Amino acid sequence: MAKIGIVGGGIVGVALARALSSRGAEVVVFEKETRLSQHQTGHNSGVVHAGLYYKPGSLKATLCAAGRVSIRQFCEAKGLPYREVGKLVVAVDETELDALAEIERRSTLNGVPDLARIDDVARLREIEPHVAGIAAVHSPHTAVVDYASITEAMAQDVRAAGGQIRLGHEVTGLRLESGRVRVSTPVSQDVVDRVIVCAGLQSDVVAKLIGADASPKILPFRGEYWELAPERTGLVNGMIYPVPDPRFPFLGVHFTRGVYDNVHVGPNAVPALAREGYDWLQWSVKDTWESLRWPGAWPLAKQHWRMGVDEISASLIKPLYYRKARRFIPELKSSDLTHKSAAGVRAQAWGRAGELLDDFAVDQVGPVTVLRNAPSPAATSSIAIAEYVLEHYLSKAAA
Ligand SMILES: Cc1cc2nc3c(=O)[nH]c(=O)nc-3n(C[C@H](O)[C@H](O)[C@H](O)COP(=O)(O)OP(=O)(O)OC[C@H]3O[C@@H](n4cnc5c(N)ncnc54)[C@H](O)[C@@H]3O)c2cc1C
Repeated sequence: MAKIGIVGGGIVGVALARALSSRGAEVVVFEKETRLSQHQTGHNSGVVHAGLYYKPGSLKATLCAAGRVSIRQFCEAKGLPYREVGKLVVAVDETELDALAEIERRSTLNGVPDLARIDDVARLREIEPHVAGIAAVHSPHTAVVDYASITEAMAQDVRAAGGQIRLGHEVTGLRLESGRVRVSTPVSQDVVDRVIVCAGLQSDVVAKLIGADASPKILPFRGEYWELAPERTGLVNGMIYPVPDPRFPFLGVHFTRGVYDNVHVGPNAVPALAREGYDWLQWSVKDTWESLRWPGAWPLAKQHWRMGVDEISASLIKPLYYRKARRFIPELKSSDLTHKSAAGVRAQAWGRAGELLDDFAVDQVGPVTVLRNAPSPAATSSIAIAEYVLEHYLSKAAA
């Protein structure tokens, strides 16, 4: 029986551990924090994406479609909340109609179920009575969940199948040893047949331990949310999204009715000053310096500086953030945004030429498989990503 080490106790690592342990592999998950889901998995929008945006045929498109179904089935089987609150992607003016048409085209090719184009404002208002817009696409099966609870339930399956989940075990060394891999943490040494790295914001750092290429590097992008006052959550039935800027991999500030009925507004996308920098005060000189001296830094800055200034200003100055949100709900008052809630930091991979990687990316270095880019919708896609990695990279080890 193959022994497999997994680095990272977010939803992707734990989904892989579950898939492997259910096939009889001996699995050990190494997680540096004292709890699971402490980074992206526990700090996201909780949306189960239906696959509207992704380039048809890409891994994101195919694994999101499969992953959505698997997450729904998993939640049903475990009695976890899964609410299809539906999503409207709204064009506020005519300049956004072409980009909206492209989303509709992609959604159709990606097989988004029951997608509808809406050009009738009255119909728009039936779905979201307070929204302003001239057209939209509606995805009724876009849902919300609690990814941290899902990860915990997956972890219970891993333990029940005999797998180990070791919290507080930061992997600091990966070394080849006669075709196997020695996994070192400050408190343990293991020799395993295969390793899968699902280390999110640290994936490039862990990849370097085994001699993988430094590219793509991780560029941490923080997403900040504001909470809507409880007495004003009636302004939003489900989800209201802008038409995203196709040059950028993020979706723009939106409204989401979460699985526990709160409504949050966000996330924006600002460069974080540390890989795990959840506010402006968390600053790592090392992380910032490494980003600045990356060859892609200046090409990226040159291309996106306007958007960067806009996002950073809205992060620091509430009225600017409020203005972005009010575009979609004119009745919204600044005081309706009561406080910032916990932010998340996205692990976005970028290459040496400054390009932000759009699709999921996997690297293989001998017996070590590294997920180099698993940003949104990787939570939605997690169970499908696990199946994909097993089939394409690990089929022998899992046998
Ligand atoms: C603001 C925001 C909103 C998002 N919204 C959505 C959404 O609505 N829907 C969606 O599908 N996706 C969304 N995403 C993306 C989604 O959260 C991530 O794609 C997904 O959680 C990635 O899971 P992961 O397991 O790869 O990474 P993570 O959850 O980040 O887990 C990686 C783990 O590796 C551990 N680790 C790192 N280094 C080491 C080491 N050396 N040793 C041991 N452990 C280590 C970390 O502690 C961490 O627990 C969002 C992300 C953010 C930040």
